[in-house]
Amino acid sequence: DLRPVARALLSVSDKTGLVEFARALADRGVELVSTGGTRKALAEAGLAARDIADLTHFPEMMDGRLKTLHPKVHGGLLAVRENPEHEAAMLAHDIAPIDLLVVNLYPFEATLAKGAPFDQCVENIDIGGPAMIRAASKNHDDVAVIVDPQDYGALIEELAETQGATRLATRRRLAQKAFARTAAYDAAISNWLAQALDEAAPPVRAFGGRLAEPMRYGENPHQSAGFYLTGEARPGVATARQVQGKQLSYNNVNDTDAAFECVAEFDPARTAAVVIVKHANPCGAAEGATLEEAYRKALRCDPVSAFGGIVALNRRLDAQAAQEIVKIFTEVIIAPDADEAAISIVAGKKNLRLLLTGGLPDPRARGVNYRSVSGGFLAQSRDNAVVDDMNLQTVTKRAPSAQELADLKFAYRVAKHVKSNAIVYAKDGATVGVGAGQMSRVDSSRIAAHKALEAAQAAGLSESLAKGAVVASDAFFPFADGLLAAAQAGATAVIQPGGSVNDKDVIAAADEKGLAMVFTGVRHFRH
Ligand code: 5GP
Repeated sequence: DLRPVARALLSVSDKTGLVEFARALADRGVELVSTGGTRKALAEAGLAARDIADLTHFPEMMDGRLKTLHPKVHGGLLAVRENPEHEAAMLAHDIAPIDLLVVNLYPFEATLAKGAPFDQCVENIDIGGPAMIRAASKNHDDVAVIVDPQDYGALIEELAETQGATRLATRRRLAQKAFARTAAYDAAISNWLAQALDEAAPPVRAFGGRLAEPMRYGENPHQSAGFYLTGEARPGVATARQVQGKQLSYNNVNDTDAAFECVAEFDPARTAAVVIVKHANPCGAAEGATLEEAYRKALRCDPVSAFGGIVALNRRLDAQAAQEIVKIFTEVIIAPDADEAAISIVAGKKNLRLLLTGGLPDPRARGVNYRSVSGGFLAQSRDNAVVDDMNLQTVTKRAPSAQELADLKFAYRVAKHVKSNAIVYAKDGATVGVGAGQMSRVDSSRIAAHKALEAAQAAGLSESLAKGAVVASDAFFPFADGLLAAAQAGATAVIQPGGSVNDKDVIAAADEKGLAMVFTGVRHFRH
């Protein structure tokens, strides 16, 4: 299964490690062939490589769109060694075999991430590179293909161990990685075009992602995991800059995403906002005049759960907020940006991860969410419904007061990001009790009420925080019981989609208790 490497074709955009690698190949007597830029980089380091045009007798043209798309190149990659017909064809057409292909692609994803204009992104769609990668990968019985500079070292070691050959197992592993790379590359291009078209439905979506980093483990230590990027340019955990702290774990990434998507519901021009997440659910969310105030209010909701949580902010992190946050053990802080003073305060906690995203995701933006099931996965358009755009209808005798209405909207924004069944109590722009992920809505109501009572006790208050609060439900109350549980806890107003066959009974119960209730007409299930 050993295949000697006599000729290598190098054509790389990312020149990291190129010179050392090419030198090691040349030292082994491997003939090097290269495209323009790569050849130039090698020449500058004193390494001679043959010009690809020597092979093709065809110049590079059309802004580099045509460099290697030629039968002499593809024949050299695709020809099956020891196949008489293929060998005869090579002889007849003067095609030289290529034993090693080293390609990394035009930086399409990086160009996109820079926010480059449309035409520039188009020009960074590599055609010849993927064609060569796929040809060499198909023919991995004979040809080795490297698409990642990180694999240079191991290949040189293998050549040393085998006196200049590659092993089948290595070639197959490299081919598998290469096809993953071209699949992710095409997925990024297709997803970018989908975003540019701004189509809501995900009918013809490409699925694929580029492994950004292997993780130490998955949701549990016995599971392996990786973080894959789809290439979509949206501010968030996938594109954030990590200023400090340990590597993010699988659960950190999941929770940080939940926190940041939730806090982005709050327009930073209108208010400062903070969301604290544990196990993918907000355990506290609040608005405030400052981030510090918002953080204190969010923390008060459930200080027990907030321990070891993820804190997301909708504005630039300042020193005052940072000072408060570092008082308790926190896993991750994510914000659009941070003051220098805030960064130094966070630096006092070496393990605390600080992520800066450069902006907030638009809650109204279209996008696609995925979820795996055995043997497949589901794709759906992102829940981009925003309470401000909903047609709120008062269904009870009493209409909510202005303060109640503000809190109702606040609670509904948060409820959108709480796992169903979701019940959220809120008062004065802060959650005071969150019931998440229960199989029955009435259980979520009871848990949220219980949380509000506990929070009051923790704050040394005798009366539950639910007293005088409002309550949001992510879906309709199927029976009056959940609503009655909220009324009993002290809620004065309710927001929910409506639409149950029992709406009449639920409205009658609300009227009887003197509650104000508004229907949104939009459900926010999240599982
Ligand atoms: P260089 O810097 O050597 O001039 O070009 C290297 C880049 O060109 C690599 O990223 C490689 O994938 C890409 N490439 C090689 N052949 C072709 C081709 O025929 N067409 C296009 N568009 N790109 C190519």
